[in-house]
Amino acid sequence: MQPDTMRTTPLESFPPPDKWDDWQELDAKAWPRRVKKNYALVPTICFNCEAACGLITYVDKETQEIRKVEGNPYHPGSRGRNCAKGPATVNQVQDPERILYPMKRVGPRGSGRFERVSWDEVLDTLAARIRKAIVEDRKTEVMYHVGRPGHDGYVERVLQAWGVDGHNSHTNVCSAAARLGYTLWSGYDRPSPDYENAKFTLLISAHLETGHYFNPHAQRIIEAKMNGGKLAACDVRLSNTASMADYWLATRPGTEAMMLLGFAHVILRDDLVDWDFVRTWVNWRDYQRAKGREEEFTAFQRGLREDYAFATPAHAASITGLDAATIEQVGREIGEAGSRFASHVWRNAAAGNEGGWAVARNLQFVSVLVGAVASVGGTAGSGTNKFVPSPFKKPRPQEAWSELLYPNEWPLSHHELSFCLPHLVKSGRGKIDTWFGRVYNPVWTNPDGAMWIDMFEDPDAVGCHVMLTPTWNETSRWADFVLPMGHATERHDLMSQETHAATWIGFRQPVHRVLAERQGRDFEWTYEVNPGEVWEEDEFWIALSWKIDPDGALGIREQFESPYRPGERITIDEYYRWIFENSVPGLPEAAAAEGQTPLEYMRRHGCFLVKDQVYKTHEHELPPGDYAVDPDLGVVHKDGEVLGVYDGERCMQGFHTPSKKLELYSPTMADWGWPEHAAPTYLESHVDESKLDRENGEMALVPTFRLPTLIHTRSANSKWLSELSNTNPVWIHPEDARRVGVEMGELIRVTTRTGYYVNAVWVTEGVRPGVVACSHHMGRWTVKGDQVSGNHWQLHDVDLRKVSETAYLMRRTKPVDSFASDDEDSDKVWWSSGGVHQNMTFPAQPDPISGMHCWHQVVTVSKAEPGDRYGDVYVDIGKSMAVFEEWQARTRPAAEHGKDGLRRPLHLKRVCRPTEDMFKL
Ligand code: SF4
Repeated sequence: MQPDTMRTTPLESFPPPDKWDDWQELDAKAWPRRVKKNYALVPTICFNCEAACGLITYVDKETQEIRKVEGNPYHPGSRGRNCAKGPATVNQVQDPERILYPMKRVGPRGSGRFERVSWDEVLDTLAARIRKAIVEDRKTEVMYHVGRPGHDGYVERVLQAWGVDGHNSHTNVCSAAARLGYTLWSGYDRPSPDYENAKFTLLISAHLETGHYFNPHAQRIIEAKMNGGKLAACDVRLSNTASMADYWLATRPGTEAMMLLGFAHVILRDDLVDWDFVRTWVNWRDYQRAKGREEEFTAFQRGLREDYAFATPAHAASITGLDAATIEQVGREIGEAGSRFASHVWRNAAAGNEGGWAVARNLQFVSVLVGAVASVGGTAGSGTNKFVPSPFKKPRPQEAWSELLYPNEWPLSHHELSFCLPHLVKSGRGKIDTWFGRVYNPVWTNPDGAMWIDMFEDPDAVGCHVMLTPTWNETSRWADFVLPMGHATERHDLMSQETHAATWIGFRQPVHRVLAERQGRDFEWTYEVNPGEVWEEDEFWIALSWKIDPDGALGIREQFESPYRPGERITIDEYYRWIFENSVPGLPEAAAAEGQTPLEYMRRHGCFLVKDQVYKTHEHELPPGDYAVDPDLGVVHKDGEVLGVYDGERCMQGFHTPSKKLELYSPTMADWGWPEHAAPTYLESHVDESKLDRENGEMALVPTFRLPTLIHTRSANSKWLSELSNTNPVWIHPEDARRVGVEMGELIRVTTRTGYYVNAVWVTEGVRPGVVACSHHMGRWTVKGDQVSGNHWQLHDVDLRKVSETAYLMRRTKPVDSFASDDEDSDKVWWSSGGVHQNMTFPAQPDPISGMHCWHQVVTVSKAEPGDRYGDVYVDIGKSMAVFEEWQARTRPAAEHGKDGLRRPLHLKRVCRPTEDMFKL
């Protein structure tokens, strides 16, 4: 029976939850014989991107083998409609080359040789190192660096319990720029569009809606379109999304922010603005004051029109390369959609360009003008449509600040300067005692990957390198410990995402553990029931923390003691039991209605809809209190601090900004060194047309997209995904192909400032002339001769050698091919390429404000040279530091340009926030 807390349409052919203990189906593989199979169905959450779609695992009751993984139709976000990566989980579980046991390096670091060790040895070794670092007050030398998070807040709690400032993430190669642009407006760092009710949707997203971030969005965009809504996709490529759109807006790379100002101009000029919304919710008085104008609303209306009078469709067209009539038309249609205008930017232009944060800033400007903020069919802040329940205990903030994470030069960076870690270490800002990589492959994923090799090869830079990973990856080669962590069916995590105008939680769970518990089997840790000795991070951190502080003297152990059995080590059941019993409104009641405990309910259903139809949370009224209202300024205040917004009748909570309003004028930008960018603006990208030497063949390379069937590293241990997508040719327009002198499939050399790679071309009118584009999700490799490796569905053997003191050349020694394994399909691999690796040839280019890596590259494109081979990668890291320092020189450090002697504004988010004292320079 479908729980009534879940809003979905039951699928008649899908087994209802009350039949999940014993479900009978005919075995498809036995056809035409009618062989009946009995399954136990266990829900979990997909781990192959951050969208957290629901999955149902079919376990053969006879063999205990996972036979298939399907979408969970009762999941409020995904509703059973998953992308190819969800069902491909079964491949990852059954991958014959997966890592099943913890391993320790043998021989020198980077030798590619490992031996099996016990979990006890791993825990003892790591606990001793970490304890020593903590006791010796080296609290910036323990670092956890996350690729795929897949949980909401679990490890942040662990790190704060240890008292270290060591959380690092991948965000600055992903979304930091867009997050800053959104944050400046509202304090929410991601958008949550209500696509299904939109009349007009504008997407500036490379991954979103084409598979990553998110399939739950994609299905709602199409629903809106089927209901008559219009769709515009801004992308230099004719992406999957663009191919479904009414408008394909292929701007010159880096000019998207100007296109958006063009739309704003049309909306202002034609008076399509929702002025009532703007009057109440925008800090227009601050804007007027900064401009030296009178604080009167009609003067503001007049002034705003004048300020953006320059951004005519003709002017925007001259910069973007679009035609003026299209800008005019789209601008008008957005204005006419009004509060039903949905929009989103993620990666794409924001992640590609210097000043990419302005794309999000200007996109939200358009949404604010038409009043499409948290409205039905509009775009809310992510935090309003995401529910993160609190755990039983919260450690106090750490008393440490790591300059390797948040350096002084980037006080407004949205997350850590993640991808620049080797550059920051090399410039003498610190070293690392113990580095944990979690589902993270920086040697392959990050720009300047050879700089990471260089860092890992230096034991003085990184004392101990620990890789927590479900699958083999390039970075593991330089690890001291490679520790197998579970896939979606082998681990616990609690997740929530902003999929639509609702809040929900999803519970990822180890399927074999759930079944073992149902069968009453006796075990202590999840690795005892998972395949091999595959563990999960949740329990690993509990066990490690307990070993770091066995007697509780460091104050760490208490954070890992059971809330139900004082003084004893918490179990993972107890950790989630407490959350489900105490932190999720409505869950205990829903569970009781089915005669279950909240934990039993979540184990049974895997998800819970907390609240449906979430709109306009900024209008929530403040509880009565000891505060005053200022009707002229439209604010609620106390002791000089703004607490909320007053609209003449109601005292409301407003947004998470210092003014509680949407900040058209950003005091944060003005106070921290960037007053010229305090209002929505346009900055020239580093790949702007004016910066390209066309005479000498320079072009802009757009590497920020991926194929929707791919994950990052973890596609390569899925045979189905590898069969679907196994090349990443360089998209090139026929005009450019003619100029370069290549035809479809021929080889080119793409040369960056630090190296080059050789790849085949895909000649297509689906990319803007003058631009080349190459997906960054392919080109996996393993060094020939390594004793430990995996993922041969997609990995090439390579010869990776130093050809000078600082230069590396990587060359393939073997194409992708059939291989011997326990999986009979490995004998049938028909494809020979796994794509070409390109990220290693990109120097690190941190945006001076957001700290985001600016992925687009100025490149020269030429025919391959004699001796070049498909897949060659050459890079000289001797040039890397110079490029990094060029970008660093464009920053405005907190010490000279900041405010109040702080490292960073107190109101900006910071992962694992330390004590306020630590913010002081
Ligand atoms: S969009 Fe695809 S990869 Fe992402 S969580 Fe959903 S099914 Fe998994």
